[in-house]
Amino acid sequence: MPTPEAVNAPAPRAARLTVVDPATGHPFDDAPDQRPEEVDAVVERARRAWIGWRADPAARTTALRAAADAVETAGDDLAPLLTREQGKPLAESYAEVARTAARLRYFAGLAPDARRIDDGRPVHSEVRWRSLGPVAGIVPWNFPLQLAAAKFAPALAAGNAVVLKPSPYTPLATRLLGSVLAEVLPEDVLTVVTGREPLGARLASHPGIRHVTFTGSVPTGRAVATAAAASLTRVTLELGGNDAAVLLDDADVERIADRLFWAAFRNCGQVCMAVKRVYAPARLHAEVVEALAHRAKTVAVGSGLDPGSRIGPVNNAPQLARVEQVARRAVAAGARAAAGGHRLDGPGYFFAPTILTDVPPDSPVVTEEQFGPVLPVLPYRTLDEAVDAANGTGFGLGGSVWGTDPDRAAAVADRLECGTAWINHHAELSLAQPFAGTKDSGLGVAGGPWGLYGNLRPFVVHRLREEDR
Ligand code: NAD
Repeated sequence: MPTPEAVNAPAPRAARLTVVDPATGHPFDDAPDQRPEEVDAVVERARRAWIGWRADPAARTTALRAAADAVETAGDDLAPLLTREQGKPLAESYAEVARTAARLRYFAGLAPDARRIDDGRPVHSEVRWRSLGPVAGIVPWNFPLQLAAAKFAPALAAGNAVVLKPSPYTPLATRLLGSVLAEVLPEDVLTVVTGREPLGARLASHPGIRHVTFTGSVPTGRAVATAAAASLTRVTLELGGNDAAVLLDDADVERIADRLFWAAFRNCGQVCMAVKRVYAPARLHAEVVEALAHRAKTVAVGSGLDPGSRIGPVNNAPQLARVEQVARRAVAAGARAAAGGHRLDGPGYFFAPTILTDVPPDSPVVTEEQFGPVLPVLPYRTLDEAVDAANGTGFGLGGSVWGTDPDRAAAVADRLECGTAWINHHAELSLAQPFAGTKDSGLGVAGGPWGLYGNLRPFVVHRLREEDR
């Protein structure tokens, strides 16, 4: 007879993590569901690997270039797997693989500047840069590979070892990427761990981790910062966004409609810096709604493996429920769906691309991050009103201004409280630029040389000038 304690004890953790194909709603594969305690040994191996990796910058450059080549060579394996677990159209998966390789190649060529500071005193100081140690990269499910590379490429280039944790919804392509890179990188320099929480929490609070670089939602970002504080570990947080697109009264609606639509609906709207709210002058509002609704009604939605699909499913069931809920709440509060507004019949996590009009400005679809294929279009009377509304949420990731006079649009963009502002387009990034949200959208800087220095610490040597030769 089992004792009452044994009967009431929690069931043992499943050793495998089930992965669902969002286009069918059915499990199709699994990955290890690693226990949080396993992190201890992984971090210790990463620490040992770091000692060799940090010592030889030239070998790092060579290895990271080889890594970029290896990712490209593996594209035909990585891209379909990414589509299968994430849902995005295959062409977008190939583009994500290409961006992953490009990021590796870019950071392979970056090195910090050692610099001498001479301020007229009889000493001068030389600023050198040191790596940190094991870095934890924690990433979400919307761009599993390219966001992983956004973590590990600068961290590895700086001389650190990396422990990478993908989302439990999308572990497979990242695991494959890890094994592709293991062929060209020294052992344990990059380790992929997969599993459910509290695996990420354990990593974030681990005293052997010297930098947690995290991309995900605002609440989880706060939890990560709190966990890392216990060991005073550096954190870089790239969090959610609620980017506004402000159309000016000279905007040529038909000319910009395609770009605006895809800025909102690429990757099924699951992009941190997607357009998540449109503000149109009252005079153009109906025309903007019509142009976007036409595209939402006619775009091909379907499995990402179908070459005809332009928009795939929402990635997971809880996110689908969230998208449905924000759309329903808006409609219950008086909004009208000019397109979509409902799930699609049949299997899989499909939601019809949705354009909402007559949306109350305090509706969650406006004030929160919907992160799915639902876009509110709001009218404004004065430009000040539009700028105030654009800046009026807790987020500050990106924003854009659209009009035929680019200088006027740039002057309005200058008033947006965000990390990146675009003129007549949205969400394009250069590998060489800094990427940093303000307000609740993030902490620290990623991208370009700033991303490299985010993984380094300054080390200063003072010398007496009279002893210089
Ligand atoms: P999420 O915050 O739920 O999860 C992100 C990652 O954190 C996952 O790997 C998850 O398993 C892990 N995690 C969960 N709880 C944790 C904890 N307590 N400690 C440590 N790790 C934990 O986010 P999501 O739903 O996977 O992704 C969507 C969010 O990501 C959106 O808010 C989106 O805007 C944001 N995002 C931001 C950027 C950016 O660069 N700013 C880019 C892409 C996505």
